Amino acid sequence: MPSSKENRDALVRLDKAIAEHASDAERLLVDLVGVPSVNPLQPGVAVGKYNGGESRANELFGEWLRDAGMETHVVEADPGRANLVGVRRGSGGGRSLGINAHIDTVAPQQGRFEDPWKAERVGNLLYGLGTTDMKAAHAAAWLAVKALNTTDVGLTGDLHIHSVVGEETMSHGIGTTAVLEAGFGVDAAIIPEPTSSDDELFRLANTAAGNYLFSLTVPGKSTHWASRNLAIRAGGGGDTVGVNAIDKAFYVYTAMRQLEDQWAFSKRHPQFPPGAFIIHPGVLHADIGFPAAPYFPDRARFDYLLSFPPGDTSEQIRTEVESHIHAAAALDPWLAEHPIEFEWIDTWPPAYTDPTSEFARVALSARNEVAVDLGTPALDTPQPNGAQSDASFYEAQGIPALVCGPGNLLVAHAADEYVDVDLIPAAARMLVRTALGWCSEG
Ligand SMILES: [Zn+2]
Repeated sequence: MPSSKENRDALVRLDKAIAEHASDAERLLVDLVGVPSVNPLQPGVAVGKYNGGESRANELFGEWLRDAGMETHVVEADPGRANLVGVRRGSGGGRSLGINAHIDTVAPQQGRFEDPWKAERVGNLLYGLGTTDMKAAHAAAWLAVKALNTTDVGLTGDLHIHSVVGEETMSHGIGTTAVLEAGFGVDAAIIPEPTSSDDELFRLANTAAGNYLFSLTVPGKSTHWASRNLAIRAGGGGDTVGVNAIDKAFYVYTAMRQLEDQWAFSKRHPQFPPGAFIIHPGVLHADIGFPAAPYFPDRARFDYLLSFPPGDTSEQIRTEVESHIHAAAALDPWLAEHPIEFEWIDTWPPAYTDPTSEFARVALSARNEVAVDLGTPALDTPQPNGAQSDASFYEAQGIPALVCGPGNLLVAHAADEYVDVDLIPAAARMLVRTALGWCSEG
């Protein structure tokens, strides 16, 4: 481990090199935005429209990484969707660090500029698709490596950059997980996803809630609308006449609200405020297959999106929700005989890295040093992240992972995405400090 004086001298030289090459990093960001690397499986994207974009953007990034002295490797688990790995070898014996940034973006939306892939600078803000989420991270990672290379500051551990595909659709099996399984494991990872905002720069996050997207379909039985009195009033034929799926859907909705209210007490995590975990009904659709009011609708479908705490698994949550709704349904004669159908569509596991671990301490002190220079208060401890990230998939392999980056989460996935270009060299300063503190004998 270098002495603290050696470390301070190295940081002075690194900061100078970062400042010298900051405009090159901005040029890299403009070039990367210029390659449409929309996730081809993003909802609303025409099949085939963006095939190969991720690979082309990673090819371009690879040229820059080689120029900064990295060796590069391609991991292509899904043909046409190539991940890029940059490696800077350490002198030996130290812990390795991975910097992870996804190269895919969401689909373009109509914003204030005609061409979403032509980055436009207005004052300090650089607009363009993928600037915040998260090509500014690629620019910052390159700048960090370039500074290490030009100053020849030695690290004993290896430094990796994992520029991955498929993040926006949680296709980690062809992205981050594929890279790790191809032999590019690391001892810790930092993911510079957008965590800066006007109020707080470079939030360092060690945890994020899990989520699950699911739907449930409540069955009914169609008949003429005018028979409603016979179906619902005492003395009528009841279910033999007809069953309005909307009535049954509200029964199920109420049961789900009861579960959500229980969760306010039963699902707790010290890093989240009470009641943080929710079961959000997002879509309700009921009819007889086409919209027609003079019928009893015979189906009602809810789409729900729920969040759950670190420590619970997706499988546990699925069982818990189904058991609760099945128990409620068992008390209703119609639903007891006509089961509700669940469809579990997509889940993102929670993220959690011990906030008191050595890696968290190293990254927090790097973050604080840079944030305080920018006028943002120091943090006592890492915070929860408002969004999911590939951190979950490093942790799934036992690798501690933290999220902290230059972009602004409030404009990610927005029509007019932008990044404050001054935050790119700041992120690079945070990354070199983390690398210097971590990639030493340990
Ligand atoms: Zn992202």
